[in-house]
Amino acid sequence: MKEPIIQVKDLTKSYGDFEAVRGISFDVYKGEIFGLLGPNGAGKSTTLEIIETLRQKSGGTVIVDGMNLDTDPEAIKKIIGVQLQTAGFYPNLNLTELIHLFVGLYQMQMDPMELLAKVDLVDKAKSKFKELSGGQKQRFSIATTLINRPKIIFLDEPTTGLDPQARRNLWDLILEIRNNGTTVIITTHYMDEAEVLCDRVAIIDSGKIIGINSPNQLIDELVESGFEKVKEVKKANLEDVFIHMTGKQLREA
Ligand code: ADP
Ligand code: MG
Repeated sequence: MKEPIIQVKDLTKSYGDFEAVRGISFDVYKGEIFGLLGPNGAGKSTTLEIIETLRQKSGGTVIVDGMNLDTDPEAIKKIIGVQLQTAGFYPNLNLTELIHLFVGLYQMQMDPMELLAKVDLVDKAKSKFKELSGGQKQRFSIATTLINRPKIIFLDEPTTGLDPQARRNLWDLILEIRNNGTTVIITTHYMDEAEVLCDRVAIIDSGKIIGINSPNQLIDELVESGFEKVKEVKKANLEDVFIHMTGKQLREA
């Protein structure tokens, strides 16, 4: 039996007259990587931010690790890690200084070097945030979600704008975090990424969940319904060519 760590039921969110989230229900299981997929404006970030206690919902119930969002938001905050937009970091502080700042906010004990080691940034400990590459910035912001040793982390489009090497590097990091026991909720516009990373995905469109299952089962269902690709699928794609020619090594001088 899969054990739910997040239970969302009939969740709604209106901004004025506009209903951005229209009664969605889903569970996230302990220890899985759960993907929220959907076009821009579908309601993914709104849904995440409600569960993260950062936004008020209009209706429905949210239970996180047995705690009700309506009555226990402070307790929920303590067991989750939320990735900030990278614009939220002081650009002129170095990584060690930024970690000290966060550790102070959370009132936690954490050795900056130990945290940087987890995301392979030890040699950047004295670099300013603004001096990092895009991939390094994302790795650092994922590291900061781990400071309070959370049970669940939330990653909203963590790989947008990264080159293929940095994207793959981040996949490895996210898988490692999950393999160490943390539940991960992620949004992405890259379907190849969702296929590689996610144990299950929910597809949201206009504030409604229109499909939820493992990527494999969703694909099988589509094929069983009679869907056929127009072109014969090649054994590689252009991204495979790119990675084959340029190598997997990270480029972040
Ligand atoms: P996604 O993350 O899937 O792209 P969002 O949750 O950010 O979608 O937004 C869902 C819808 O709600 C969009 O139409 C967006 O314009 C609208 N929206 C988001 N935040 C606000 C807000 N603070 N005020 C009004 N409308 C908002
Ligand atoms: Mg969004």
